Amino acid sequence: MKSSLLGLTKDELLNEIKKLDEPSYRVSQLIKWIYQKMVFSFDEMTDLPLILREKLDELYTLSLPKILDIRYSSDKSYKFLLELEDKEKIEMILMPEGNKTTLCISSQVGCPLGCIFCLTGKMGFRRNLSCKEILAQFILAKMNTKRRITNIVFMGMGEPLLNYDNVLKAIEIMTCREGFGLSLRRITISTAGVVPAINRLGKKNNRIPLAVSLNASDNKTRDYLMPINRKYPLDILIETLRKYPIPPRMRITFEYVLIKDINDSPSDAINLAKLIKGIKCKINLIPFNEMPEIKLFKPDDKTIYNFQKLLISKNFTTLIRQSRGKDIKGACGQLAVSLQ
Ligand code: SAH
Ligand code: SF4
Repeated sequence: MKSSLLGLTKDELLNEIKKLDEPSYRVSQLIKWIYQKMVFSFDEMTDLPLILREKLDELYTLSLPKILDIRYSSDKSYKFLLELEDKEKIEMILMPEGNKTTLCISSQVGCPLGCIFCLTGKMGFRRNLSCKEILAQFILAKMNTKRRITNIVFMGMGEPLLNYDNVLKAIEIMTCREGFGLSLRRITISTAGVVPAINRLGKKNNRIPLAVSLNASDNKTRDYLMPINRKYPLDILIETLRKYPIPPRMRITFEYVLIKDINDSPSDAINLAKLIKGIKCKINLIPFNEMPEIKLFKPDDKTIYNFQKLLISKNFTTLIRQSRGKDIKGACGQLAVSLQ
């Protein structure tokens, strides 16, 4: 079977090129064709000798997942449904916002963590995405929009820190200067709180912006909402984040899905403020996206604003993030291909 050249880092490409007894500058040529010109057929890479083009074609592919569907939302975001080689499906969302365009990508097919408010969690875990499949989402989005994609968030399907190596490798390729040259500051990893992987990230990749889905300020509520809390309870998670080496001018983002009568009371807000006091952070409140499959509800607007006001009064930068793409099932927690 042919192997893929997509999803290889510059060093890995160099290895392949050496195997073919080609000079190392071929790597830069390939990177230019693939990542800058986005040409995916060796045949069109006209500054490579014909013999090499034929050899590459014999040994490697540059194939991308298939786009099965693109749905446009009234709020200008759009959702792509992609089919992978083994017919598994994933989704990604492109969200234009002023002169910013954010791409929300998936890291797994499904998710093993089973948070009760999230449809991806409900569909269970199918498999990790390969580095190529993660990178391909960015490539396909780029090919299908005239806008420049300025930001990437790992907030689609799956838990990125349970697919650590592939996610980090994809980020390495996205930020490679000769290739896409995306800035590391514009890529956010969102995690439900996989403590050992947060520690690993802190040691090696603390310059990648980190978002942590907190969603509760006491263990009882968090155990109920997010089963991973039984493995890594709040005290351990928060202790880990207190020690996390946050670089200057950066902050951790706490995400907090507000769910009616579960985690939305004034005392929840006060507990949250106490819990994360002293951590360099900002808070994104995400009103729960309702869906028929899940019997939970969004708080009313007044409760949401009060929650925000309380946190602001405790000096936390706190934003209310309205989810995009609700009408196309593209909003946070609504991505679950096999349930649709
Ligand atoms: N697994 C990672 C990243 C994907 S989930 C994580 O949990 O952080 C991305 C975000 O969507 C998380 O902050 C999660 O709390 C939020 N989310 C999940 N279901 C939601 C829902 N029904 N309504 C609003 N936000 C939701
Ligand atoms: Fe997985 Fe994140 Fe959904 Fe929880 S919220 S089930 S961790 S994708």
